Amino acid sequence: MSDAELVLRSTRVITPEGTRAASVAVSAGTITAVLPYDAAVPSGARLVDLGDDVLLPGLVDTHVHVNDPGRTEWEGFWTATRAAAAGGITTLVDMPLNSLPPTTTADHLSVKRRVAADKAHIDVGFWGGALPDNVKDLRPLHEAGVFGFKAFLSPSGVDEFPHLDQDRLARSLAEIAGFDGLLIVHAEDPHHLASAPQQGGPRYADFLASRPRDAEDTAVAGLIAQARRLHARVHVLHLSSSDALPLIAAAKADGVRVTAETCPHYLTLTAEEVPDGASEFKCCPPIREAANQDLLWQALADGTIDCVVTDHSPSTADLKTGDFATAWGGISGLQLSLAAVWTEARRRGHGLEDVVRWMSTRTAALVGLDRKGAIEAGRDADFAVLAPDETFTVDPAALQHRNRVTAYAGKTLHGVVRSTWLRGERIVADGEFTAPKGRLLTRDH
Ligand SMILES: [Zn+2]
Repeated sequence: MSDAELVLRSTRVITPEGTRAASVAVSAGTITAVLPYDAAVPSGARLVDLGDDVLLPGLVDTHVHVNDPGRTEWEGFWTATRAAAAGGITTLVDMPLNSLPPTTTADHLSVKRRVAADKAHIDVGFWGGALPDNVKDLRPLHEAGVFGFKAFLSPSGVDEFPHLDQDRLARSLAEIAGFDGLLIVHAEDPHHLASAPQQGGPRYADFLASRPRDAEDTAVAGLIAQARRLHARVHVLHLSSSDALPLIAAAKADGVRVTAETCPHYLTLTAEEVPDGASEFKCCPPIREAANQDLLWQALADGTIDCVVTDHSPSTADLKTGDFATAWGGISGLQLSLAAVWTEARRRGHGLEDVVRWMSTRTAALVGLDRKGAIEAGRDADFAVLAPDETFTVDPAALQHRNRVTAYAGKTLHGVVRSTWLRGERIVADGEFTAPKGRLLTRDH
């Protein structure tokens, strides 16, 4: 390790081979070696001894709505990337909607990149958007480095991002398959939603009934059929309905190129506990029953669900009205995702290695970031340092999110992030941030 500038030592380092005592050597922002715990530190290298705190790869969150520019009163690159860093996330991929402009042309991508450039505390990549009328823009966006394309199969919630019907979906997916791109899909079927009872009002049970499982199941089945026909790569976003799991498992077994994610709120919150009128819990698809949640955990354990991402989708507090029909749908969880998932994972007998696989290794692999997602030689020296047994109670005032509305308020969670490191530099420790050091990422870089 003669070329190391920095050595991070811990009794618990999470590596692809498991958790062990190790010294991680870093040079020029890259991990150069994972060495025995008591390996000699080269002269001139700085040793940081983390004791028993766990060193894990920085999380890669591939589902974040930053909303910048255009709806920066909801969130922005400065606040979102600080919140992410505080929560142990070192890379995020920004969703193409809720910002103005949406990321649906190469020019719009340039606007977004300019806005993000000097505000990014962590590394930031971008998804493009697939709209009914932008098939011609998909290849230029791909060549400009987006990680794939998001489409909705039902109304998105914002007028400038219309959804695709089945014909448009087929057309966009054929175009994307032409360059072996990735289509990521909000899978709820609009016809099933339209025929569900739309009661409105403050009762959570009514909201849940308005977004039934079969809307998700039907949309997932249709998407799988298209992926199978075109041999295209598709990814199911924020899966909530456990009834769709057998479809996904069977498609994977058949060799269909489909992956799926779920979110911390589906894994840690239940419909039974949502108070009426509490629209900070509103998201689409909705948080479902405890029995449904058990099956999502089982699917994570058996690999039917590949990964866990936040779907951080905040708004201003005034849009979170007490009426579930009209309140903004989106849960704000960027800073809390690691602790929330870890708290429930440990209760269910999973290890931190599992959480790292779901929230870092697999998400990095989903978007092809082969320098992220693991502690091994040749990867970026992106880390979170975690005290996994320590607890804290969620105080909205302590969040870095622009709007401190959270469904996790008052919860006691396990896992305190002591510090977060990006390419060998500590970017936050105990609430103190450095100046932004994040880079804008493109596919294959
Ligand atoms: Zn989303």
